[in-house]
Amino acid sequence: MTNPRLSKTKILLGMQCPRRLYLEVYHPEFAEVSEETEQILARGNDVGQAARDLLPKGILIDTGGDLGRALQETSDHLSRRKNATLFEAAFEHQDVLIKADILHSRSGTIKLVEVKSTTLVKPYHIPDVAVQFWVLKGAGYEPRKVELAYIDNSFVYPGNGDYQGLFTKADMTEEVLELQREIPKWVKKCKQVLRGDMPSIEVGDQCESPFDCPFYSYCTEGTTMPEYPVGLLPWGGKTAEKLLELGICDLRDAKEDQLSKPLHRKVWRATKTGKPEIDPAVSAEIRKHPYPRYYLDFETIAFAIPVWAGTRPYQQIPFQWSCHIEHQNGTVEHKDFLDTTGDLPVKSLAECLIATVGSKGPVYSYGAFERTMINAISEMLPGLAPKLGKIRSRIVDLLPIARQSYYHPAMKGSWSMKSVLPTIAPSLNYDSLEVQHGGMAQQAYLEATAHGTTAERQRAIRENLLEYCGRDTEGLFAIARFLENAAAVQIS
Ligand code: SF4
Repeated sequence: MTNPRLSKTKILLGMQCPRRLYLEVYHPEFAEVSEETEQILARGNDVGQAARDLLPKGILIDTGGDLGRALQETSDHLSRRKNATLFEAAFEHQDVLIKADILHSRSGTIKLVEVKSTTLVKPYHIPDVAVQFWVLKGAGYEPRKVELAYIDNSFVYPGNGDYQGLFTKADMTEEVLELQREIPKWVKKCKQVLRGDMPSIEVGDQCESPFDCPFYSYCTEGTTMPEYPVGLLPWGGKTAEKLLELGICDLRDAKEDQLSKPLHRKVWRATKTGKPEIDPAVSAEIRKHPYPRYYLDFETIAFAIPVWAGTRPYQQIPFQWSCHIEHQNGTVEHKDFLDTTGDLPVKSLAECLIATVGSKGPVYSYGAFERTMINAISEMLPGLAPKLGKIRSRIVDLLPIARQSYYHPAMKGSWSMKSVLPTIAPSLNYDSLEVQHGGMAQQAYLEATAHGTTAERQRAIRENLLEYCGRDTEGLFAIARFLENAAAVQIS
């Protein structure tokens, strides 16, 4: 069997898991690529393009997938020009192919720059650049310096397409040189994997680190997972490890004294008996809250490369909220806001929110996100900060209250709204909605604001988004009602 060509990416995958390397090469059809992975890849491409745009004299080696021609063009440019900046320059050494994001050649001295969409240097970036350095050197060049260009999240976009300062750089040369002796071993190991049969490897921590593996379903197909795996214990990694070492895979097989945290014992008890637990004292806690009561949820968007002047990379910008308002006489109103103009939505969103939530009554959220968002909006709009600060001081986070007082075995260790709702209000599910989670809401927002989206399509997207965010606050309202009635409620 001849070896398929290796690449930097394949070597990194082989380091994560030899079986993953084998499957990527011989059975890519078994991969299930998540929406999130696709979004990460698309973001990487955008960031790569932004880095290239900052170097207008650079030359892109673009041969439409013809690797032989890419190698030849790279070699031609480097031999013909004393000084050159190349994008996607291709090099090969011992059947390992790399494409360098940015390569600066100055009188024969080469600097390699790898562009990342992260805001930090991550441990897995080091082998990434080390392999590139090794190939470059092996191909007969003299790389002197290796840098990682990554996003500076303190950069504030001044507008007018000016992205100078978007990237910050880290000199990785020392770390890369230290790893050079290891690389031939990695390459040899990867080649052995590809010459042999599919490695038999159990699923484990490597399936998620440093990247989620798209072969997880394939590797776990046909295996019977326990109905209540010990891993469902919230913040219970070490306890789960100990139980697994004792051969206990299903939480129902554990003994109470093997669990020390009260929360773990509650989860275990409910799971073992199959009966939900609720603390009736929570009713009084909710009942003391005055009316009107507001149930609030934001949807946000974040761009690696900011599109609005005055914003930063990855800054969460709210573009939508939904608010259910419960009055003392039992009536419930619904108000919402959604901006799909593509302009910075924050000012009109905040003004509308202030007008809607008035000056008194609790503002319920589920998790800390709404409070964080109100802080973020206050920073962006200092003139509205006092009014927003008052709203923030009224926020009541129902998540810790629910965690403290309620657990149903079907929640399987999670108090997320999507885990709690089916146990108390099954009709409020998201299955029938076009937009079913925050990631989909972001994609829908991007489509609604994209040039070329028809007015008709935009209307449909708006309806979907409004329905989704409205469902979130309907759910929040249902959870509050459930907790308030806990003393009397009969749960099945
Ligand atoms: S799911 Fe896990 S065991 Fe299977 S190939 Fe991926 S990393 Fe390897």
